[in-house]
Amino acid sequence: MPALTAPKRKADAARLAERLAHLRDVVRASATDRPGVYRMIGDGGEVVYVGKSKRLRTRLLSYFRAEFPKDKGARIVREAATIEWSYVPSEFAALLEELRLIKRLRPRFNVAMKRDARHYAFVRVAGGVAPRLTVVRGSGAGERGGVFYGPFVGAERVGDALRELGDALGLRDCTFDSRMRFSDQPDLLVLPPRTPGCIRHEIGTCLGPCVAAVRAEVYDDRVRQARAFLEGRDDEPMERLREAMQLASDEMAYERAAVLRDKLQRLEALHEQFARLRFAVESLSFAYIVPGYEGEDRFYLVRRGVVRAELPSPRTPDEWEGLRLECGRIFGTEGARTPRAVSTVPAHEVDELLLVSSWFSVRPAELQATVSADAVGTLWAQDDR
Ligand code: SF4
Repeated sequence: MPALTAPKRKADAARLAERLAHLRDVVRASATDRPGVYRMIGDGGEVVYVGKSKRLRTRLLSYFRAEFPKDKGARIVREAATIEWSYVPSEFAALLEELRLIKRLRPRFNVAMKRDARHYAFVRVAGGVAPRLTVVRGSGAGERGGVFYGPFVGAERVGDALRELGDALGLRDCTFDSRMRFSDQPDLLVLPPRTPGCIRHEIGTCLGPCVAAVRAEVYDDRVRQARAFLEGRDDEPMERLREAMQLASDEMAYERAAVLRDKLQRLEALHEQFARLRFAVESLSFAYIVPGYEGEDRFYLVRRGVVRAELPSPRTPDEWEGLRLECGRIFGTEGARTPRAVSTVPAHEVDELLLVSSWFSVRPAELQATVSADAVGTLWAQDDR
């Protein structure tokens, strides 16, 4: 690429300064200080960044005071040919809208910043042949597909416990997905070569799908056991360890008994942590009443940490009846008793669950603005008086 000459650099800098001054004038003239979501759009129409603020005008103007290249805001606004925004009733609404836009548009600056949101983690049971259990971190985890359990903090500790669970059930933890073969696979003419560098099958902690040492149904059954353990329906893996520990102790193999005791403790901690988690996710089910800008109050119907419906605050008997019906749909037999296990999170709900749980965990006072679905009728009666 030819080097920029000094006059060309000067001309480019002048054009950029002019464009930024124009964008700033547009914001000054038309943006209002109220909750909203904005999109920075590049030359070719690509949305390069989506953001939100409870004071939109102030937030947008701050981009023009940011220092280049030190501040991220300055780097973003220099890519923008236009800025578009829309207003929403509240900060909570802005957060939700921002998340949904990011998921739909995948702006490159937002995607690059996802690394900031790696605080939370999930246990993922992957799909495919011989699934494995892994700990995946942070926002965007759901894009990888599979079944998720979480969210939780302390990924390292959970990862250690998950390894014990995998060892106890003989599940693989390697990434050699393409090498997996079951012993009852019809197209298995020659045994696949031993996977180098892994002795888990030899020492009995993996059933060995890499060397066709296990039938598909046996492996799948172990995966089902792992899921039942994470869902609190089965503690067989802990029983196995208890029995092995007792046997080692009876044989006076005290060192081995101590190792097994430590493994058991890690599994017990995992079991308890997931029991607490199930309770936490289930407790994020309610109607959340959010006062909005200039009376645009909203009812959010949240079930298992995900907003299932958003309605304007009802004012007439018909609107109250609409809300009651919506509560019935979401929290009643149809919505609440899906066959899904209580601690799993579908991949597409992971990010919203993270958003809602962190919203309430940093603002516990907001829980006072929530009511159970059953209590919505009481509000109606109060409104009627
Ligand atoms: S024994 Fe084979 S399948 Fe099991 S973890 Fe090792 S490489 Fe993977």
